[in-house]
Amino acid sequence: MIRARTLPLVLALILAGCVSTTPAHSEIPAPTQKAAVTPVPIPAPTVAAIDLTLHSIDDADSLWVVADKLRPIQPKKYVPSGLRTLDVPHTYEPTLRADAAKAYLKMFRAAKNDKVNLVVQSAYRSYSTQVSVYNGWVASLGRKAADLQSARPGYSEHQIGLSVDIASATAGCTIQACFSRTPEGKWLTKNAWRFGWHLRYPNGKTAVTGYKFEPWHWRYVGVELAAELNLTPKITMEEFFGLPAAPDYAR
Ligand SMILES: [Zn+2]
Repeated sequence: MIRARTLPLVLALILAGCVSTTPAHSEIPAPTQKAAVTPVPIPAPTVAAIDLTLHSIDDADSLWVVADKLRPIQPKKYVPSGLRTLDVPHTYEPTLRADAAKAYLKMFRAAKNDKVNLVVQSAYRSYSTQVSVYNGWVASLGRKAADLQSARPGYSEHQIGLSVDIASATAGCTIQACFSRTPEGKWLTKNAWRFGWHLRYPNGKTAVTGYKFEPWHWRYVGVELAAELNLTPKITMEEFFGLPAAPDYAR
């Protein structure tokens, strides 16, 4: 008798548990299982379905490290280990950390398969390279405008070895907001998360990230986190991890 009365409740709990703990986008491609029973509407999760303590957000070697204007890379002259050169179309010869390099290759091939031609504009940049890049922007735009589109040395995601700036082989708009409307930009917006890449500086989030919209800048965070981030349009890593907004450097 007890078993008969509690069975529906147990079933309901199991069903609810299955739905809420499995990210909707965790499979590649999306699962096509048929529901055995009429699905019960489950509200969108308000907390992350993945274990947020899985990787550090402070350690520069971590897949999930968050660097922004309030969170300099530790140490500031950090050099990642295991950088790999990517044999793909590029402007500046690209290197990335091994896991990101592998994920980029996978994404590059999938895009090519869809007749979309990704070009690496720039990937890993050392502290000293960032000194030149940042100083170049300051010289042409002034410090205030430069800070909106180029990180100061020791604060750049490119120095971590997990970020890549991607351009179009044919459509122009390199390192410009209009890249989002190119076939490459559109393809990335739709598909990059499947390969573990996250749009780090979304449109309208300058007050959080400190940078203007950068549809070309993709950060490797791994498929698990990228899928989770993809559930919320334009979410930033700061918002996801409950970190303070970082519109500007600490004085
Ligand atoms: Zn970038």
